[in-house]
Amino acid sequence: MKYFDYAATTPPYAEVVRAMSEIMDQHYGNPSSLHRYGEEAERLIRRAREVTAGILGVQPSEIIWTSGATESNNMAIKGAALRKGRTQGHIVTTMIEHPSVYETCRQLELFGFEVSYVRPLRDGTISPEDILAAIRPDTILVSVMHVNNETGAIQWIEQITRLVKSSYPRVLVHVDGVQGFGRVPVSLREWGIDLYSLSAHKLRGPKGTGLLYVKQGIELLPLLTGGGQEQGYRSGTENAAGIAGMTKALRFAAERQEEQYKHLSMLQDRLQQAIRNIPGLVLTEVSPAAPHIVHFTYPGMKAEVVLHSLEQQGCLVSTQSACSSRKSVPSRVLTAMGMDREHADSGIRISLGDEHTLEDMEYLIGALEQTVQSLRSLERR
Ligand code: PMP
Repeated sequence: MKYFDYAATTPPYAEVVRAMSEIMDQHYGNPSSLHRYGEEAERLIRRAREVTAGILGVQPSEIIWTSGATESNNMAIKGAALRKGRTQGHIVTTMIEHPSVYETCRQLELFGFEVSYVRPLRDGTISPEDILAAIRPDTILVSVMHVNNETGAIQWIEQITRLVKSSYPRVLVHVDGVQGFGRVPVSLREWGIDLYSLSAHKLRGPKGTGLLYVKQGIELLPLLTGGGQEQGYRSGTENAAGIAGMTKALRFAAERQEEQYKHLSMLQDRLQQAIRNIPGLVLTEVSPAAPHIVHFTYPGMKAEVVLHSLEQQGCLVSTQSACSSRKSVPSRVLTAMGMDREHADSGIRISLGDEHTLEDMEYLIGALEQTVQSLRSLERR
């Protein structure tokens, strides 16, 4: 089997697995314990926090470890909305966010908050001016993802942040950086981002570990209360092995980003060029685009049918995002971009990783051609 679903999750690096296994085996102390096992675990986490802060160019005290980006996004959005006992206010986000942002905003609407969902342009990007125009006097937070997990469209985060901050310095800017980090450059400090979510398993780290960057001075209502770990932001015994594994994966991702970008762009170019030439397939053209995602539609064909045909030929791909792919509704992201139902029902996402080669692309292209040939008789048009 060839795995082309890196935007859903990635295989952990062997070094990550080794480091984690050693920690679980030998350093299982509770970081809050006062004895030496506890101190050892606490030291490991402190060191990981320092290294991670260095990679992100921020202070160690600004890193909050979480169980993944779903939790980080919930913490950023609900934590900002509900802080200081507030029960109402306005949030600006977009129609193309991951469910962990989108559904969190919808839930806040049930509590009485108001949310503006900005529509993307046809090229898959959100206009910074549209974000600015949606801000109101009672806006608390703007939340926009860096790279869309379905289409790969890169959002104008630097421009959005600068624009928001220059007109409304007290409005917080949250960025879901999950699909961006390690694939495209980001600079939290320089761009002025207030809150930034990451997940380890999208970067060849472990599942169940993530972080939220919280700029110094920002108060959030903690979602998890208890023992007061993570400066009171996030109670619960820290996952030392996951944290160390995530830190290793982040370091590799940061060190290899330029090299990865070149490699993935080369593979992406080849694949996109081939898809443009396969009759029946329509490449989803987004711009600017991250290098690891290629998206196309096959109007008239259900995405699941295409997915299973590709699987029979040894290629694992995705319909919509992994978190939405079991729902039989057309993609919210594609619909928001203005696609009709026929297109939005037939989207396939191919996502690439550093281990892929040009030979893998040729294999996948062969499978795509074979799929189209065998499904042609089923086309609804
Ligand atoms: N945001 C984006 C853009 C994602 O792609 C994902 C993973 N599908 C998440 C958030 C959620 O991350 P996690 O699996 O760590 O909860």
